[in-house]
Amino acid sequence: MHTQVGIDVEQAALLLEQGELVAIPTETVYGLAANALNAQACARIFEVKNRPSFDPLIVHLAASSDCEAALASCARVIPDWALKLARAFWPGPLTLVLPRKPLVPDIVTSGLDTVALRMPAHTLAQRLLERVPFPLAAPSANPFGFVSPTTAQHVLDQLGGRIAYVLDGGSCRVGLESTIVGEQGGRPVVLRLGGLGLEELENALGPLTLATSSGASPGSLESHYAPRTPLYFDDLGYRARGLSPEQVGLLLFRAPLSEVPPDQQEVLSMSGDLNEAARNLFAALRRLDALAASRGLRAIFTQKFPERGLGRAINDRLRRASFRPA
Ligand code: AMP
Ligand code: MG
Repeated sequence: MHTQVGIDVEQAALLLEQGELVAIPTETVYGLAANALNAQACARIFEVKNRPSFDPLIVHLAASSDCEAALASCARVIPDWALKLARAFWPGPLTLVLPRKPLVPDIVTSGLDTVALRMPAHTLAQRLLERVPFPLAAPSANPFGFVSPTTAQHVLDQLGGRIAYVLDGGSCRVGLESTIVGEQGGRPVVLRLGGLGLEELENALGPLTLATSSGASPGSLESHYAPRTPLYFDDLGYRARGLSPEQVGLLLFRAPLSEVPPDQQEVLSMSGDLNEAARNLFAALRRLDALAASRGLRAIFTQKFPERGLGRAINDRLRRASFRPA
């Protein structure tokens, strides 16, 4: 299959109506979209991504000022906390997990009684969602377990030839997957840290708990979001591992280290802006990974980012990227 790249919303819509897959830009990362109400089309998402069927998809909704109606299109129950969050942060990088209506196919929710819903804030994605008469199921447009794509080229690099069309919306403005909030024991809990800061959620709802890894989202596996090169999180001690400056890549927050060649270092935000750092994170990981392959770098070493704003989600992704089973 030849994968086309462009900004033709009409063509993307026609393909989706035919049950094809289209990669779409969102403010978080690129998604691999299918008609969320077409089980067969959604099954192809799992096939193309090589995604295990126990990892459910996020359903993307057309923007509307009536958040209650939008939620009610797929959710059977809408708790007060969910309506409050949707009204405060939609369209935006926030996903809500709520009891699902029967029209949402089992394959989308991995058979769970809940469905993950989000209204993305990206002009092209929204034009597409307004154009088609169904919501779009879309996980990140990368092979399962790899780093999420934040440009159309990233999608092409990994899924080119396997999907019909990539809608090119430029670089993703947020650059991290959405924050996911669900309910446990009648109370909202954060199931995954992401593109909306915990502080902002807590400003709206008061103190929140983070789900433990066993209670977290089914897809929140320990090892995830990983480059192929071994990655050490919160650890710049390459010498202690017997490596020289020429053999390592560094992922840093504000400033490079003088002893390592400059082109083997990625500095995510010289000005110390965590939003900018988040926006640059995945592209930087990809560049270091590619450099490791071409130049024989042995490992990537990273700092820990400040535990505030998007720094928490950056640390979460790097921690998962660094996980290696014993
Ligand atoms: P991705 O878009 O690739 O980041 O994947 C979507 C993620 O949303 C999954 O990996 C799950 O962690 C989460 N998710 C989707 N549906 C549900 C659900 N019903 N309950 C809990 N988490 C969900
Ligand atoms: Mg993903």
